[in-house]
Amino acid sequence: AAAVVSGEKKVMLAAPRGYCAGVDRAVIAVEKALEHHGAPVYVRKEIVHNRHVVDTLEQQGVVFVEELDEVPEGALTVFSAHGVSPAVVNEAAERNLQTIDATCPLVTKVHREAVRFAKQNRSILLIGHEGHEEVEGTYGEAPEHTTIINNPEEARTVEVEDPDNLIWLSQTTLSVDETLEIVSILRERFPNLQDPPSDDICYATSNRQAAIKKISPSCDLVIVVGSANSSNSVRLKEVAVEYGAQRAERVDFANQVDESWFEGVATVGLSSGASVPEVLVQEVLTLLAEYGYGSVEEVVTAEEDIIFSLPKELRAEMKKVG
Ligand code: SF4
Repeated sequence: AAAVVSGEKKVMLAAPRGYCAGVDRAVIAVEKALEHHGAPVYVRKEIVHNRHVVDTLEQQGVVFVEELDEVPEGALTVFSAHGVSPAVVNEAAERNLQTIDATCPLVTKVHREAVRFAKQNRSILLIGHEGHEEVEGTYGEAPEHTTIINNPEEARTVEVEDPDNLIWLSQTTLSVDETLEIVSILRERFPNLQDPPSDDICYATSNRQAAIKKISPSCDLVIVVGSANSSNSVRLKEVAVEYGAQRAERVDFANQVDESWFEGVATVGLSSGASVPEVLVQEVLTLLAEYGYGSVEEVVTAEEDIIFSLPKELRAEMKKVG
């Protein structure tokens, strides 16, 4: 169907988008582990929440498991970028697993904060999505001290024992705006609520949201490349609509893009979550060009140059082997 389109057809490509430093490091860690040990390498949970990355590593001999009891005694096991609770670390030690911890250093930072504040006997309100692996890990550092706040409604109703000894922490991949809203609701109820020493929402999450906020008001349609279980990807789609995109859709792959979305669309916005390889974005761009959206303007709102060194277990090993 030849839709009537007002204005020239074009693409606004958000930057930064795609891989963050924590995802890059976690994926390289698994690849290096495969190189040094050969298959199989076990990974607890998806190393990062991306279908393409997980499928590709599986083909190379990685075995993804939900829990450690699926791993043979003594085998090499990688912990995912989202982090693990101390209970999982203990279980790995009991089963003599050789482990590589690919937890993003920015997640580890939040774990350290939880441990420190629990030691000081403070109550922690952890803003995040219950059931997400990262939240399970952080919560597990201090379960007796921590209450999870999923949304503004829970902020309105949560009861705390000692409102003068309260601090909030958060998951790294939340909506910046919704988190601020939750904190302001909490602060109204508990005026002595303390802030974390530094932002828990990571640079990659906030940069990707800032970029999509910039393009969304001009877009009839925004496409976010990212998997359904990727928290930061799903947030990008929500933010696009909040900031004025007529419509937003999330796809894992270019072949999920639906032709019917383009009825009357002049400007298409495009971005991708922090766990998404750039090749998947390029495939969507190729498809968009076929649909007549061949003119691409990249809108850059920040430069990123953060790189994390590989997990220490792996660095030690690579030194040994030479
Ligand atoms: Fe680390 Fe942020 Fe990337 Fe998560 S999204 S892996 S916290 S840099």
